[in-house]
Amino acid sequence: AEQRAVSARARAITSRLVLIVLRDITEQERVEQMRRDFVANTSHELKTPVGAVGLLAEAVDSAADDPGQVREFARRLEREADRLASLTSRIMSLSRLQTEEPTTLRDVAVDDLIAAQIDAHAAQADSAGVRVMRGGDRGAFVHGDLPVLGEALGNLLANAIAYSPSGSHVGVGVKIEGRVVEIAVADQGIGIDESDQERVFERFYRADQARSRRTGGTGLGLAIVKHAVQRHGGEVRLWSQPGRGSTFTVRLPLAPPPTHRAGRAARRS
Ligand code: ADP
Repeated sequence: AEQRAVSARARAITSRLVLIVLRDITEQERVEQMRRDFVANTSHELKTPVGAVGLLAEAVDSAADDPGQVREFARRLEREADRLASLTSRIMSLSRLQTEEPTTLRDVAVDDLIAAQIDAHAAQADSAGVRVMRGGDRGAFVHGDLPVLGEALGNLLANAIAYSPSGSHVGVGVKIEGRVVEIAVADQGIGIDESDQERVFERFYRADQARSRRTGGTGLGLAIVKHAVQRHGGEVRLWSQPGRGSTFTVRLPLAPPPTHRAGRAARRS
């Protein structure tokens, strides 16, 4: 009877091991599949602007006798080149976020983070005729990767401005709630259909309205936001109503203010 119990236990252990190994393989396969999809999507997205650059270069060549046309094609070439540059830089960001571990974590003052991004988007807001306003709680800190968080907030702000009509407002609000800080970017823009709301965080996904409104987008901004926030142990939520506006809310774990922590460490030693 004892022998039977031992062999039953051995069988149980073996089957558990097999299960763990299998789970590991599926995880590996999933990551591998994600990488393959990413490369496939990326190549597909790069083909259009690369093709356009080739065609425009040919057009410039054959319009050599007409300076007006040459200038027009040159302008379009520049636009395509800009688009390629922003596409590649976003692809790099996303691929870094999907593979590398965070490197330099530090105390990030949420107030400074927001001020820097509002500054960086002042020109875009000006030319769109959109007013950006900052409100809510002050003094929040998070422990994080400053450039990554800056890029995430910057993408939300850039979208809020880009998908808003002239004369409207974009609000950046902060709420400290227990151990979480919420940063909300709210606009009064075109909004997002309910059927698109889940999907806008997927890479290269663009809602139809946006596609017809503006060709400049890459469809990578929100995928970067999602990965950046998740990497910091946070989450991003979306509320939107077509024609009324959208609010993206980023929730991040709050860090104690650095001076407070330094003081406590000093007292302890
Ligand atoms: P894009 O470069 O196209 O803006 P994103 O990943 O940043 O790519 O956004 C994906 C899509 O989500 C956009 O194409 C647009 O359809 C929609 N979207 C994002 N932000 C907003 C917003 N603030 N208002 C309306 N639609 C938005």
